[in-house]
Amino acid sequence: MGFLQATKYVASLPQVNIDELVCADVHCVLLDRDNTCVPQGTKQVPPEVKSWVERAKHAGLRICLISNNFFSTDVAQTADEFGVLKIDHAMKPAPFALWRALRRMGVSRDKAVLIGDQVFTDVLAGNLAGVSTILVRPQSVTDLFYTKLFRIAEHRVLNNVTFEGDELQQ
Ligand SMILES: [Mg+2]
Repeated sequence: MGFLQATKYVASLPQVNIDELVCADVHCVLLDRDNTCVPQGTKQVPPEVKSWVERAKHAGLRICLISNNFFSTDVAQTADEFGVLKIDHAMKPAPFALWRALRRMGVSRDKAVLIGDQVFTDVLAGNLAGVSTILVRPQSVTDLFYTKLFRIAEHRVLNNVTFEGDELQQ
C-alpha cells in the first residue's frame, strides 16, 4: 500500500502551492503531461496551468515533463510552450525516466517532486524512484481505455483520501 500513497493530494496543478515547494527545498518538478497539464483529448494547455508553470519557473523551480505519451510531437509541443525539458515514452511506473531527468538537471532525488494524476503510473513511479509525489485529480474524466481500468483500482486506493482544494472545485 505504501508505494501507492502520494506524499500530498491536491485538487489540481494550479492549486499546488509553489511557495510551499520552495520552502520544502524542492528544486525540481517532474511533471506529468496528460490530464495533469493538458486535458485528455485536447492539445490545449489551460491558461491557469500555463501561469502555474511560469510562476514555478520564476520561483526558481526546474521542470521536466515526464510523459508516457507515445506522440512525441505532442509532448514536445507542450514542453516548448512551457519552455521546459521533456522525456516522452517514459514508461512510468518504471523509475528510470525520472532518474534520467534528475541526472540531466543535476538535482538529487530528495530535492524533486513528481506531480501527476495517476496512482499506478505517477505515484508509483515517484515512490520507486525515491522522490516525493503530489497526486492531482485528472483534468478530464475522459481517459484512454487502459487508463480506465486503472481508474477502477485507483478508486479503491483513494477511498478515504482528501484532496486539498477540492472544495474550490465544486
Ligand atoms: Mg496523466
